[in-house]
Amino acid sequence: MLDSTTLTQRPDTPAAAVAALMDGNRAFRSRLAEQRADGAPVFMQIALEDLGVGQPGVAPPQQPFAAFLGCADARAPVELIFGQAANSLFVVRVAGNILGATGLGSLNFAVERLGTVRLLCVLGHTGCGAVGAAVDAYLAPAAYLGVAANLPLQAIVSPLMAPVHGAAEALQRATGDDVVARPGYRAALVDLAGTLHAALQASALQRAFNSQRGDSLSVVYGVYNLASRCVGQPNAAAAGDDWQPGLFAPPDDAAGFEALALELAGSRYGGRGVGQAGRVGAASGEV
Ligand SMILES: [Zn+2]
Repeated sequence: MLDSTTLTQRPDTPAAAVAALMDGNRAFRSRLAEQRADGAPVFMQIALEDLGVGQPGVAPPQQPFAAFLGCADARAPVELIFGQAANSLFVVRVAGNILGATGLGSLNFAVERLGTVRLLCVLGHTGCGAVGAAVDAYLAPAAYLGVAANLPLQAIVSPLMAPVHGAAEALQRATGDDVVARPGYRAALVDLAGTLHAALQASALQRAFNSQRGDSLSVVYGVYNLASRCVGQPNAAAAGDDWQPGLFAPPDDAAGFEALALELAGSRYGGRGVGQAGRVGAASGEV
């Protein structure tokens, strides 16, 4: 992480930005894979110039190449996940990566005023506690009365209800009505709803920023898998790993979202993995 190229070779196209971020996530994962079974520490060297904070006594100009809407969850630090230095990413983090007026205003500042942002990205994560609260309100409607009376909690849960409903319907259509009774259903619903939510927020950003702007700006989404540390989404393909690394363009209409929901719900990580041993589930202490 924090390679010596980060300061001098900033990505200047959306495709280059995606490539730099995924290269960084790959490096992050491979370095963590060096963790030793005996718990002995593994050290890495970082040149001070590569921290991105500039020279002593001189304020560097702000030059992020990507802007993020991510979750406030303490386990999802965006720069670390993508192996990027300070001043490379402009990051808005809020529980459930919910796009509100202040978050949109912040991203608007980054895109319109800084002039260096080539990519807007919504980053969800597996086992999101905010999405989990919405899932619980969906699964036990009586509990939603408590949410409705708590305005701060309602502000987070309410925007998540639509993707939760969409995910639940897709899971039942893709895998059968009995999926709701299988162990692991709640965790699958949380992760599918979290993925759809990230895609929906990216679609909202696309509309807010007047869609794609060729080589100057693109909007994508991805999900950080807390267990594998890989950014991507459930792999809808029949072959290969359960998790597909990448950052993805969101659908741009209702039919596209319905198709995405069904694809993901039918994946091995999604609905087909519910009730089966080995599925990567949610951890506790989530936000
Ligand atoms: Zn979260």
